[in-house]
Amino acid sequence: MSIPQGEQQRRISALVQMQRTHFKSGLTRSAAWRREKLETVIRMVEENREAMHRGLELDLRRNRTDSDLIDVEYTVREARYALRNLDQWMKPEHEPLSPVWQPGKVRIRRDPFGVALVIGAWNEPYMLTLGPAIAALAAGNTVVIKPSEVAPNSAEVLAELVARYFHPSELAVETGGVDVAEELLEQNWDFIFFTGSPRVGRIIYAGATRNLTPCVLELGGKNPTIVHSSADIKVAARRIAFGRFMNAGQVCTSPDYVLVLPEVKDQLIHELGEAIREFYGADPQASPDFGRIVNKANFKRLQAYLGDGTVVHGGYTDEDDLYIAPTIITEPDLDSALMNEEIFGPILPIIEIGSIEEAIGWVNARPAPLGLYVFTGEMEIAEEILTRTDSGDACVNDATVQPMIHELPFGGTGNSGFGKYHGRHGFETFTNARGVFYHSTRVDPAVKYPPYAKRKAQRAILTKLL
Ligand code: NAD
Repeated sequence: MSIPQGEQQRRISALVQMQRTHFKSGLTRSAAWRREKLETVIRMVEENREAMHRGLELDLRRNRTDSDLIDVEYTVREARYALRNLDQWMKPEHEPLSPVWQPGKVRIRRDPFGVALVIGAWNEPYMLTLGPAIAALAAGNTVVIKPSEVAPNSAEVLAELVARYFHPSELAVETGGVDVAEELLEQNWDFIFFTGSPRVGRIIYAGATRNLTPCVLELGGKNPTIVHSSADIKVAARRIAFGRFMNAGQVCTSPDYVLVLPEVKDQLIHELGEAIREFYGADPQASPDFGRIVNKANFKRLQAYLGDGTVVHGGYTDEDDLYIAPTIITEPDLDSALMNEEIFGPILPIIEIGSIEEAIGWVNARPAPLGLYVFTGEMEIAEEILTRTDSGDACVNDATVQPMIHELPFGGTGNSGFGKYHGRHGFETFTNARGVFYHSTRVDPAVKYPPYAKRKAQRAILTKLL
């Protein structure tokens, strides 16, 4: 049943107002409040694992192990990490102070922004909503989450659980489609955290400018994966296959395509085929570990890519089951949709590249990706590639997994977005680094003040010291 627009608007405005009143009360700034909210997130997930897994199974036919890795247990680990480090993060930072400002001291406070909006994508429906919410709560903000309507079962589970464990003045979930997202964007937020496509990212950014709201855009793109002849090809193939075919390829950090040197191309293709057979058996459709495409529209989009090159592994599709086999494509048409849109599915094009120099040129000729992966046994080659290219994050001899490492900042650059989170980086993102100068009143030399002409020589010394 759809809710009349006026009513929806009033309800959402009232929710934001309620959260702002709560934030302004000052309660959310205390360490005790933040700790309690993080503990509540952990308890909520731990007491409702089954419901959360069921949501993922219904939306994506995701297996439990992967669901824990990137959604359910992931959120528990992220909240625990924040809890463990909260006291340290909340301490004001010290910096040395130049003699001219002495006697005094400087401190950098990390103060919360206020009321935050988190809009998530569907492929990791808990990680991309509770993950930013954990950072926002640890930082002392209140949060409204808008999960994606494309994973409706997980979105419903999240809404039901959050309503049961939290008061809406501190953490609330608004489910619904684009109309709800647009309505939310109309509100006056203190921070907006968006995960999704570069296309919608532009709409969010435009909306944020209305009230000069700071925001983070976690977007996608085509993640290049470079395989050098010095790499351990068997290990490279297994890690690339794992990273590409987990969640049926619907992971923002998945390798989108491989650039491989000619000497090891055939071996890599062979080992990728072996890895697929080892992970998912002779018939991946029967494997409990291989997922499904989220909906018909995405299935059709992916199915059309299969004609954009030569299928050397997989290629089988079953529309009724939303199944696309783990597929390897060689000689892709470089002007095709396969090579110009983010694939976001279980299809991996392999492109032969003449040299590392050529690979660097290839990456630099395209929009900056979210992830860049280099497989090599020679660290100088990895460093050369990293130094001369851009990407949000990168792995050397691995792929896809960097967001699972709480110590690393995660986020894009250029077309893959801006702003970082996870662990301390999330805490910093959701706080204003407020510089404070504490000045002693013990001394107050007249040289600082007009009339300047009277103390020219002393002022010249002062200016040099500044
Ligand atoms: P999407 O941009 O279509 O939707 C994301 C969210 O935006 C949804 O909640 C949706 O309801 C909302 N939305 C859609 N239209 C809107 C509008 N006009 N105004 C306001 N909100 C609107 O993305 P998606 O299909 O859910 O996710 C896939 C994309 O997300 C891929 O590009 C993928 O790479 C990217 N992604 C990025 C990350 C990351 O961490 N960087 C993680 C996962 C997915």
